[in-house]
Amino acid sequence: MKALVLEEKGKLSLRDFDIPGTLGPRDVRIKTHTVGICGSDVHYYTHGKIGHFVVNAPMVLGHEASGTVIGVGAEVTHLKAGDRVCMEPGIPDPTSRASKLGIYNVDPAVTFWATPPIHGCLTPEVIHPAAFTYKLPDSVSFAEGAMVEPFAIGMQAALRARIQPGDVAVVTGAGPIGMMVALAALAGGCARVVVADLAQPKLDIIGAYDGIECVNIRNRPLVEAVAEVTDGWGADIVFECSGAAPAILGLPALARPGGAIVLVGMPVDPVPVDIVGLQAKELRIETVFRYANVYDRAIALIASGKVDLKPLISATLPFEDSIAAFDRAVEARETDVKLQIVMPE
Ligand code: ZN
Repeated sequence: MKALVLEEKGKLSLRDFDIPGTLGPRDVRIKTHTVGICGSDVHYYTHGKIGHFVVNAPMVLGHEASGTVIGVGAEVTHLKAGDRVCMEPGIPDPTSRASKLGIYNVDPAVTFWATPPIHGCLTPEVIHPAAFTYKLPDSVSFAEGAMVEPFAIGMQAALRARIQPGDVAVVTGAGPIGMMVALAALAGGCARVVVADLAQPKLDIIGAYDGIECVNIRNRPLVEAVAEVTDGWGADIVFECSGAAPAILGLPALARPGGAIVLVGMPVDPVPVDIVGLQAKELRIETVFRYANVYDRAIALIASGKVDLKPLISATLPFEDSIAAFDRAVEARETDVKLQIVMPE
């Protein structure tokens, strides 16, 4: 079976590659339909590693996927052949302490698609645990199904923030994840969400949503814009989605006294933090690593129409053009939000 294989840093190939595995009693076999390209896939392509995860052997990329069930294990009851589904790419050890606590995303034993040495899903068929495979309602397309994974991070951030109805939120960074966080914050009850970035094309895309206001920090200090929106009080919640050191240092000035900061973006290197600035307002700090127990909620919000992710899909390319799609993802970071790859029929 063909797959998109990252051979080593900077080298992709589309070639025959069989991911080892057999259909266990609690697994499903899925014909992959749509796979989104994530910043992490691109980072493995351009850098060969993320933190201590290093690509030492050829690895199949892709973890944002939807598809159709084509086979079920003997003990699977909630899915059947023909079901349209999306897949949660992180699989914990179900007997681990983290799983028992419901925080399976931080289970040290978790395996995650396209995180070395685990293969991803840019291949026509995958085997996946049924417990991490979710049926899509008829109203949710395969394209939207493949957006559930990045939106799940937004959901996790919104849940961590403990949003109260009418809150004002700030999102620093308008990459795909910042946009997902902004939309999840709105769906979670925020009245206004201010999104800040340097890239105007991306601000124009997210600024088209009702309830979202954009600040291009090339033109205006964010702290000034937030003061204007909140009458000088500060934002109830600040979601950090840029991973950029200056943004992180500036977080305390954006939040209201007693507000919350949710750290979503991942700086490549350690960054300085203004501890006294955090203490002086008694800010609550939350951190986000992937997500746990949010897929059902994410799918329900998309199905309800309260969250529309379709405007964030910049282009859809066929599987045969996967390598070109990745090269575009590297080059068009300022203008594209999400690129998706569609597998052959
Ligand atoms: Zn992703």
